[in-house]
Amino acid sequence: MAPPLISVQDVTKVFRMGDVEVRALRGVSLDIEAGEFVAIRGPSGSGKSTLMNIVGCLDRPTTGRYLLDGKDVAPLDRDALARIRNRLLGFVFQSFNLLPRTSALENVELPLLYAGLPRAERHRRAARALERVGLADRLDHPPNRLSGGQQQRVAIARALVSEPKLILADEPTGNLDSRTSVEVLALFQELGRTGITIVLVTHEPDIATYVGRQIVVRDGHIASDRRQTPVRADPSSIPIEDVA
Ligand code: ADP
Ligand code: MG
Repeated sequence: MAPPLISVQDVTKVFRMGDVEVRALRGVSLDIEAGEFVAIRGPSGSGKSTLMNIVGCLDRPTTGRYLLDGKDVAPLDRDALARIRNRLLGFVFQSFNLLPRTSALENVELPLLYAGLPRAERHRRAARALERVGLADRLDHPPNRLSGGQQQRVAIARALVSEPKLILADEPTGNLDSRTSVEVLALFQELGRTGITIVLVTHEPDIATYVGRQIVVRDGHIASDRRQTPVRADPSSIPIEDVA
């Protein structure tokens, strides 16, 4: 049997700031199988982003082990970790993190540029990824000519373009109104059906109803971990708000 895609084994993370120690993770163990759509939920400061950064190979545990796709990442140096991130992982953030004054297409091409792909291939793949998120008609638009929901979809296309096994999304709906949030969740559900693994961090209980497994983190450890039947994300069921 294939190993779990993610295996976090008794991981702790301590941040030291001068004399002060912050114990952000206090012994977290967690396996996630390929194809799962998981929410990590918990109040602000509970350790969600710290856990996500370890899972995304952006940070290392203080103690404990982390295996990604069956492989212990501890011995890997920065370059090797960067290659793994490029090959296996796609990141989505609350603040979209798109380059301003740069078209949607060029934003999505960026990871492929780092991977050294030729121009024509980059264009083709980026256009395809934008099509997948429903933005085939917005390729030339820079972020300031797109709505928040469209910007987040560009960011999701950028995460998808290198065909990762795993998408890590840290508060991806944090800057979006309720209806747009559900649109983004509908897109994640659609991607999930194609077999991609998605781990989403949120502090909002509503958002966590749309996934197949909810892990609640509190004070640096797992308070609960439950599978559930996901609510189908249907944006048309959510009233349109006055958008700020
Ligand atoms: P969440 O994402 O759930 O809001 P975090 O994982 O960001 O929580 O933070 C967990 C705890 O670790 C908090 O007390 C936070 O202040 C602390 N923390 C996070 N990152 C750092 C850091 N780089 N240096 C020091 N403390 C940190
Ligand atoms: Mg956070």
